[in-house]
Amino acid sequence: MWICSRCQTANKDGYTQCVECSAPRNARRFGAGTPVSAPSVQTVPPERRMQPPAEREAPPPPRRQAASPDGPPPPRRAPGGFVRLIGVVLAVLLPLCAVLFFIIRKDALQPFVNGLFFKPGDAVPPAFDTLAYVFSALVAVLAALLPGLSLWSLGRMVQAFRGR
Ligand SMILES: [Zn+2]
Repeated sequence: MWICSRCQTANKDGYTQCVECSAPRNARRFGAGTPVSAPSVQTVPPERRMQPPAEREAPPPPRRQAASPDGPPPPRRAPGGFVRLIGVVLAVLLPLCAVLFFIIRKDALQPFVNGLFFKPGDAVPPAFDTLAYVFSALVAVLAALLPGLSLWSLGRMVQAFRGR
C-alpha cells in the first residue's frame, strides 16, 4: 500500500501508477527527489487539466437585525443594496400583515371603524359600513407600505450617491 503524493489516494503495491490521477508512484509534488523518466502527456493528472474556474465570491449572508430606524445604516460594502432589499421585504410583508389583520380581525375592527365614520346610534347602511371598512383597510395598507418604500428609496439614494 502506498499513498499517491499528488491526490493522496491509497494504491495497492502492485500498481506503478496512481489509479486516481495516474501519477507515477515515485512522483513528487514539487519535483524534488528522483526525476520521473520520460513524462508523457498521459501523466498529467486530469484534475489539473480541468480545474474548475475560481469560485465566485459567495454573497454575504443576510443579517438578522433590521436597520434601526434612527441613525445611519451600519457601514457595509454595499449598504444601498442591503437597505433596498430590506425595504422591498418590508414593503411586501407589512401590507400583507395589514391585509391579513383586517381580514382575520374583522369582527373586532368593524365596530371601531364604524365608530370612526358614523355617529353612534346612526342607522348605517350595510353597503356603507363595508365601504368604510375597505377604505380603512386601504389606508392601513398604504401606511404599512411607507416604511418599506422609504427604506427602498433610501437604498436607491445611497447607491446613486456612491455610484458617482
Ligand atoms: Zn494520485
